[in-house]
Amino acid sequence: MSTLVDADEAKILLEASIAGTLPDERGRFGPFGGRYIPETLVPAFERLEQGIADHLHTESFQSEFRSELKNWVGRPTALTHAPRLSEAWGADVWLKREDLAHTGAHKINNAIGQALLAKRLGAKRIIAETGAGQHGVASAAACARVGLPCRVYMGAVDIERQAPNVDRMLRLGAEVFPVESGDKTLRAAIDEALREWVTDPAGIYYLIGSAVGAHPYPYLVRELQAVIGQEAREQMIRQAGGLPDAAFACVGGGSNAIGLFYPLLGDREIELIGVEAGGTGDGLGQNAATLATGTPGVLQGSYSVILQDENGNVRETHSISAGLDYSGVGPEHALLQAVGRVSYVSASDAEALAALEELCEMEGILTALETAHAYAAASKWARKNPGKRILIGNSGRGDKDMPTLTRYPVRTSRNVTA
Ligand SMILES: *Cc1c(COP(=O)(O)O)cnc(C)c1O
Repeated sequence: MSTLVDADEAKILLEASIAGTLPDERGRFGPFGGRYIPETLVPAFERLEQGIADHLHTESFQSEFRSELKNWVGRPTALTHAPRLSEAWGADVWLKREDLAHTGAHKINNAIGQALLAKRLGAKRIIAETGAGQHGVASAAACARVGLPCRVYMGAVDIERQAPNVDRMLRLGAEVFPVESGDKTLRAAIDEALREWVTDPAGIYYLIGSAVGAHPYPYLVRELQAVIGQEAREQMIRQAGGLPDAAFACVGGGSNAIGLFYPLLGDREIELIGVEAGGTGDGLGQNAATLATGTPGVLQGSYSVILQDENGNVRETHSISAGLDYSGVGPEHALLQAVGRVSYVSASDAEALAALEELCEMEGILTALETAHAYAAASKWARKNPGKRILIGNSGRGDKDMPTLTRYPVRTSRNVTA
């Protein structure tokens, strides 16, 4: 348990989390979250906060959002029973299939929700940032759908590494803006996007890609992604005959995990487990296991847990999956860990690869490398807790990972027959 929250406070904050009264009016999840931004950005964030208060929970916005989720995204996504995996693990395994959502992952729920909001706020154009490119693709698609121009800031290094996604964004009508400053990756891209936003807070909408950043973004993204857990909860009762004993989701910034977990927080008998990238080892720089190994600090306008060295410098991370390769995590996860409602574990690159292969062969599903981390942890848990019902958030599909997977050939016995 975090030293930032004592036992009495933890009880109160847990109840508040379950009751849905967090973040508080200062944008805080207990000690975490808030808004640590330069003065120049304050008007833009205040405008957004007011816009959310005016629109997000209105009948009119919600019915438009639901309609787009149903008819364009393809929701509800299936809940799939995994009979062969169940037998192998000695468990009853169910998969929430975000890989079946339009563009192949959960990110589209957030992108279309924010694009619809941008329209209502009268924005003339949308800016986004992307590292691996998945959020850029979802944003480009959502902007095309609502008819707003989209510029995606992307580090020059990432543009090089993620060429297929750059092409997808361009075809979806977005402008990809190369960032040559700083580390030329995600962090520099975010700085550049924020700089642009300041120049015209009324005309520009900044579409963030995960449950991170200064208030109100972690709240907004959670509200838009909670559809995952709302659907899964209902589907488990209807199809599986009851709620799961444990639910697993991978954690990068934490948007698919909070989307799955948030509607399940009040079902206290369900063990909730977030799975971070364990990379190649425990050393600083070898993984992206933020909650498992990080310390409290401010990153991108929010107080949360981050990977930093003893001088407070944010550290580079490593993961085989680009989507988990991030040195921070959303503030709500930091709180859920501190109050003991969600536990966070990690799975290594090698464990994720093995889990991906097992799922492919057992159930005919090529999952994303990010998602494979959740399977690796779930399979370990299942072997220690026999006979349990397990829900796994299958956050996305793995087709995008083929260039990486090709470097790790399947076992020789099953190679193409000569
Ligand atoms: C981006 C991505 C993630 C990580 O992002 P979160 O915000 O932590 O959900 C996980 N899975 C897939 C398939 C992704 O594309």
